[in-house]
Amino acid sequence: MAYDPDNIFARILRGEIPCRKVYEDRHVLAFHDIRPQAPTHVLVIPKGPYTSFADFSEQATPEEILDFIRAAGLIARQAGVEDSGYRLIANHGPDSHQEVPHFHLHILGGRPLGPMLV
Ligand code: IMP
Repeated sequence: MAYDPDNIFARILRGEIPCRKVYEDRHVLAFHDIRPQAPTHVLVIPKGPYTSFADFSEQATPEEILDFIRAAGLIARQAGVEDSGYRLIANHGPDSHQEVPHFHLHILGGRPLGPMLV
C-alpha cells in the first residue's frame, strides 16, 4: 500500500506535531499514546516509511528490524513492566482497525490486561 507522507506519525517524525517521547535511535521513535488504554501505553514506530506490518516485514533492512525489536524490549524494561508483564499489539489493515497508516507497535502494561478478547 502506498505510504501517506502526511499521516500523523509521519508528521510527528518531522517534528510538525509534538509527542511525549520516551525513546529514539537512528531507526526508531517511541512515544506515549495520546489515548492510553493502560497505565503504560507506548507506541514504537520505525522512522522509515512503512504503512503496515507487512510493508515493514518485507521492506525494512535487517538493521531496522533488529533496532525496532531491541528498542521495544528496552522500552518495556525502562517502563518498569518487564516483571509484571505487558502486551505487544500491531494492527494491520482494516479488519484490525488500524487507524494510523504508519506501522507501529503498541506496548501495553501497568495493570492486569485480562485475556485477549479477539
Ligand atoms: P492503531 O489503531 O493501531 O492504528 O493505533 C493508533 C494509535 O495512535 C491509537 O491508540 C491512538 O490513540 C494513537 N494516536 C493517534 N494520534 C496520536 C498522536 O498524535 N500522538 C500519540 N498517539 C496518537
